[in-house]
Amino acid sequence: MTTQTVNPQHKLPNLSNFNIINYTNKIKKTFIGILATIPIAITLPVQALEVEIIPKQPELGDTISVVIDVEPQETQNIPVVTVKNQTENNTYPAFAIAPNKYRAFIPTTPLEKPGVRTVRITGNGQERNLAVLVGDRDFPVQRINLPPGKAGVKATEYELQRVAQLKALQTPEKYWERAFIAPNKARISTKYGVRRYYNGKFAKDYYHRGVDYAGGAGSPVVAPAAGRVALVGTVAQGFRVHGNVIGIDHGQGVVSIFMHLSKINVQEGDFVKAGQLIGGIGSTGASTGPHLHWGLYVNGKSIDPIPWKSQSID
Ligand SMILES: [Zn+2]
Repeated sequence: MTTQTVNPQHKLPNLSNFNIINYTNKIKKTFIGILATIPIAITLPVQALEVEIIPKQPELGDTISVVIDVEPQETQNIPVVTVKNQTENNTYPAFAIAPNKYRAFIPTTPLEKPGVRTVRITGNGQERNLAVLVGDRDFPVQRINLPPGKAGVKATEYELQRVAQLKALQTPEKYWERAFIAPNKARISTKYGVRRYYNGKFAKDYYHRGVDYAGGAGSPVVAPAAGRVALVGTVAQGFRVHGNVIGIDHGQGVVSIFMHLSKINVQEGDFVKAGQLIGGIGSTGASTGPHLHWGLYVNGKSIDPIPWKSQSID
């Protein structure tokens, strides 16, 4: 099965030509050439890499799953997924999710432009190229006016380094199961992806890298999915911006961060289950009032956590 994912709402000229693909076609042509000249029965090889892209119509902020079925082989090479957009070329690791089945996650963010991504999948000497259309999305805008000369709190080097280490995790094991659950029962006060103007000037590198829950001080924070506690940081250790913070490694490049906590109930290295109490809502760090900030990172980039709650990404 050849899966090409195209958003039909966006018209693109000659997308079929764009999907120049593929090694396998060339190999098949060669085989046909041989068949025409040598009258021996040769069975044509089946497509060795079957690729499915989920969701079918991704938008900025979505996590794109590249699910790859490979032929059973004695020495299985893990497929590699490379994505080219307008400005960047990124490689994402694929991890085993079943026998002869792998998956790589492609994060998308509000900082990117919508449009076509060329997704190249290589493995076992095969190569596939797919055109994936990422649709635009309107993110809410906030206008913030700061008094002149008012500088925000600055993160410490230690804080930045520990948080960067957390976001860089690409653990081969998959710890989560099923859909994620809300880490707090309160309503969402600030959605993912909000853009800002400061004193009328657009902050081009800023977007709200997570969702905020308006829970009261001390209200329970639970793990949205299973994982390993990879970061516990406190104001006393220098987490000036994040405040008291917990990071959970869900595995396979998926990491949660919980900020501004009043209370922390876990230690680094603990394994937690979905729904397990991990801390309490607070207003520590750079925060103007009690709330929970939950950021979900995929391969180092902050994506919208909400689709992870509404659907099971197994
Ligand atoms: Zn927030």
